[in-house]
Amino acid sequence: MNNATDVLVVGAGVVGLAHAVEALERGLTVTVVERDGRAVGASIRNFGHACVTGQSGDLAELAHLARERWLDLDGRAGLGARATGGLAVARHATELAVLEELAAARPDDVVLRTAGQVRAELPAAAPTTWWAAPPS
Ligand SMILES: Cc1cc2nc3c(=O)[nH]c(=O)nc-3n(C[C@H](O)[C@H](O)[C@H](O)COP(=O)(O)OP(=O)(O)OC[C@H]3O[C@@H](n4cnc5c(N)ncnc54)[C@H](O)[C@@H]3O)c2cc1C
Repeated sequence: MNNATDVLVVGAGVVGLAHAVEALERGLTVTVVERDGRAVGASIRNFGHACVTGQSGDLAELAHLARERWLDLDGRAGLGARATGGLAVARHATELAVLEELAAARPDDVVLRTAGQVRAELPAAAPTTWWAAPPS
């Protein structure tokens, strides 16, 4: 039996599998070792929210590259990811100030919406809340 492999990945969570995919696409042989019958770690239990908007500088560039990569992998694996953007609620003037600063710095990524605008789209939203959201 030949156990030779270029890359040995321990753990079939998202980090391990991401490394496995990248290695395979570089023509390397990969073996993934997982202690459980199937991966049941953090990658299975998380909220499934991938947010790139909160990053800045070099990390923002990396996050946008990663976003394209994950959407490509999602399309190939049929996981059903939805690139819908996100809503962040401001429940206090201080929180609103942070969102206003973010919207001013990132006009292509973030727009402020009033409670009324959000309520028109999401009837369950609270009546006196301001929101920041990516442009639709
Ligand atoms: C409740 C919750 C919500 C989260 N929500 C989000 C979110 O919305 N967005 C986001 O980006 N991140 C979120 N995260 C964080 C994200 O899920 C983790 O950062 C990510 O899944 C970590 O991936 P991983 O591959 O490192 O770990 P894991 O998914 O835990 O994978 C590690 C794997 O390694 C295996 N393993 C460990 N030791 C060994 C060994 N000795 N031999 C063989 N196998 C081994 C484990 O069985 C496991 O399958 C959340 C996390 C939690 C817990």
